[in-house]
Amino acid sequence: MALHTRLRSRSLLSSARLLCTGSPASVRPLPEQGPQSEILGDHLIYTHEHRALKEALRKIIDQEINPHVDQWEAEGIFPAHKVFKILGTAGFLGVNKPVEYGGLGLDFSFSMAVSEELGHIHCGGVPMAIGVQTDMATPALARFGSEALKKEFLQPSILGDKVACLGVSEAGAGSDVSSIRTKAVRKGDEYVINGGKLWTTNGTQADWMCLLANTSDGPPHKNKSLICLPMKLPGVHVARTIKKIGMWSSDTAEVFFDDVRVPCSNVIGQEGMGFTYQMLQFQEERLWAVANIMTTMDLILQQTVDYTRQRKVFSRPVLSHQAVHFRLAELQTEVELLRSLFYRAVALYMKGNDVTLLASMAKLKGGRLARELADSCLQFWGGMGFTSDVLVSRFFRDGRLMSIGGGADEVMLGIICKYMDTLPKKRFSKVGSSCAKT
Ligand SMILES: Cc1cc2nc3c(=O)[nH]c(=O)nc-3n(C[C@H](O)[C@H](O)[C@H](O)COP(=O)(O)OP(=O)(O)OC[C@H]3O[C@@H](n4cnc5c(N)ncnc54)[C@H](O)[C@@H]3O)c2cc1C
Repeated sequence: MALHTRLRSRSLLSSARLLCTGSPASVRPLPEQGPQSEILGDHLIYTHEHRALKEALRKIIDQEINPHVDQWEAEGIFPAHKVFKILGTAGFLGVNKPVEYGGLGLDFSFSMAVSEELGHIHCGGVPMAIGVQTDMATPALARFGSEALKKEFLQPSILGDKVACLGVSEAGAGSDVSSIRTKAVRKGDEYVINGGKLWTTNGTQADWMCLLANTSDGPPHKNKSLICLPMKLPGVHVARTIKKIGMWSSDTAEVFFDDVRVPCSNVIGQEGMGFTYQMLQFQEERLWAVANIMTTMDLILQQTVDYTRQRKVFSRPVLSHQAVHFRLAELQTEVELLRSLFYRAVALYMKGNDVTLLASMAKLKGGRLARELADSCLQFWGGMGFTSDVLVSRFFRDGRLMSIGGGADEVMLGIICKYMDTLPKKRFSKVGSSCAKT
């Protein structure tokens, strides 16, 4: 069946039906991508199907998500089950997941298109929570999980009936994934799990965790497994919600495991392959993060242009000062450079190439540019930029995570150096293992 037909016949129609109930006037037209929008037919990656998908998602964002973001930010949490059900019903939680489990069976580029569109959500926390569900906690399960696990955990996650979280980072192991301490010890047909995870996005609301744990005492790259862990099991304790400088609407939890018993059949793929699976999962996570933040950067730039055009200083619009419009031009150029790198990485990934190097470069650049752009734009808003009323200040806080989460900038640099063969030989294996992080 042609892609176009598949899209139409599956969830886009149901999402379109959902949207018909809203007032057409409340749906804003989709702005073009970047200042020099490409003619769609010439786009490097996207087709009319991608555009249709983006438009349908944009309507949901405008009608079901953005009107509530300020409240969720103030409350420090968003209703994940409610929002995921809306997105799952419309097909947006599994665009590149298998049709047998409720996905749309499209290629990876559609997942990136979804991530780009989620960048229109007026905060970083909600898109991050959705990204955890679609591109961080479930790719390994979809690729390597057993039929039974996919039925129990993947399908309801795609349909929006279950919320997922990813348990990799620990109090003592963030950048260096190989040094995690959580243990899953085999006792008969079960694992008995002890340890804990820190920084777990969706952690207080999740129904299940994609958990990375040590399942043997072997070498650190071969002793780990990914396990589907129901969060309601006895011994799973959500200890606290972490207060943060940004991403307020996303709940971030600390979770402890105290003799948690889970069937050995809950291991994803082969026991001992968890580290490798997680590394693959990280590539998608990084590309997802870049796609998402690029849209937000466009949005912040555009809002800054609009604001500085009407705000006057010394009888002239702020924007008419060369220092301002030149700086914004420089930043937009940087975003376009990042976009080119990103599309190249996605195109190569879809052809089956290992894009660890390009994805790491894009993640590094995305993090640094987000910080630079947020700081410069906020400056041009003057005192208004320092208030909570404008998106630029929220982006200033939320965007800061990009250089830390999913592998810090320095971890990305370590990976790039590894490919450049510039790491001091003595440290090579050590940093090589750290690179593995997120
Ligand atoms: C809001 C939020 C949500 C998160 N969500 C999740 C989640 O859902 N699941 C999950 O598993 N994790 C999650 N994380 C964890 C995140 O991935 C880690 O915070 C990140 O990997 C960094 O680990 P760390 O905090 O332990 O920092 P550390 O590992 O202690 O590193 C501290 C700093 O050391 C520096 N550094 C690291 N490596 C090197 C190096 N090789 N050379 C020089 N300097 C270096 C970097 O500047 C780094 O920031 C989340 C974190 C936050 C803040």
